[in-house]
Amino acid sequence: HVPGRKDSIGVALVGLGYYATELLAPALQLTKHCHLAGIATGSPGKIPAWQQRHGIPDRNIYSYDDFDRIADNPAIDAVYIVTPNDLHKPLTLRAAAAGKHVWCEKPMAMNAVEAEAMVDACRRNKVQLTIGYRLQHDPLTRRLIAMARERPYGSLLKLRADAGFHAYDDVDPANKPWRLLPQHGGGAMFDMGVYALNAARYASGREPIAVSARQEIRRPHLFQGVDETMRFTLEFADGLVAECTTSFGENLNLLRADCERGWYELSPFQTYDGLKGRTSDGILLAGNGTAPYQQALQMDNDALALLRGTAPLVPGEEGVRDMRVVDAVHASARAGGLRIV
Ligand code: NDP
Repeated sequence: HVPGRKDSIGVALVGLGYYATELLAPALQLTKHCHLAGIATGSPGKIPAWQQRHGIPDRNIYSYDDFDRIADNPAIDAVYIVTPNDLHKPLTLRAAAAGKHVWCEKPMAMNAVEAEAMVDACRRNKVQLTIGYRLQHDPLTRRLIAMARERPYGSLLKLRADAGFHAYDDVDPANKPWRLLPQHGGGAMFDMGVYALNAARYASGREPIAVSARQEIRRPHLFQGVDETMRFTLEFADGLVAECTTSFGENLNLLRADCERGWYELSPFQTYDGLKGRTSDGILLAGNGTAPYQQALQMDNDALALLRGTAPLVPGEEGVRDMRVVDAVHASARAGGLRIV
């Protein structure tokens, strides 16, 4: 510890739902370079338990109405936005204007235009913006990313990335959760599709140039204006193709690379722990760590980038690239045809 120099980033969690409560707050008890300093919530009833569990002083507690006051709070360096997807952009803009660094959950925004506005606002206000792609911080995922460069089985020929789960059978159509509502950024593509898409990009180390997509709806009483299952194909400049599926109706968790001289795959590739896979010559690819280790790694990496003034591993621009593809997926699913990214 150097006197006068900050050695831990104070984080305020914004939106105290499932992910903030069950994963991020516990992860912030494991982190070395950041700590839970504050909260912002629209539910006053949640405050006492959070204060008690995490020792958060009254002065570090915000509602969405008085959130901009955070500008005057030196205990909070970074704001972590964990709300429904439609609020990612407005809250990022407010946090950036308050001079706070922004960590924002996936999907970054509702579309690429919003995502670009978020990057611009953070740049203008000289704060860092990172996206909560926890897997990119996971050691086994990083090994896969390295394999895209090292090509141990020769050139990539084909990728498959599938991410989904079966849920929502019990939902009352008159009272749907935000993940099923278009105005909040609902649908499988926004929620799980970005895992498949992001994985196709990091497993290839390349950017897709064209996209085609098709959506399927088996429960039309639940899925109105949002996708239940989306099948999309990403085409890369050198002929590489990634076939991807995302779904709220099927359990899917596979990332597979077929190469000239063999293959490798992770299944599951996007769980909180227990990542596992193998190669065509029988090598076991096993992750280690118990949830919430990914979230702790992610936040420590992001905190270190702030403390050292270095570039973050998963900057806002990474989210923008995904949102451009998501826009193309939605356009192709709506009107058909191949879309240029
Ligand atoms: P939840 O619905 O469980 O929680 C969202 C929270 O946002 C609510 O509890 C609420 O907190 C706040 N909120 C503010 N406005 C609204 C509104 N109009 N409707 C509902 N909630 C509102 O969602 P999750 O925690 O599962 O997801 C939040 C974000 O995190 C999403 O963007 C999601 O994609 C992402 N996520 C990422 C994961 C990952 O692995 N990286 C895993 C899970 C989610 P309050 O009452 O405190 O205001």
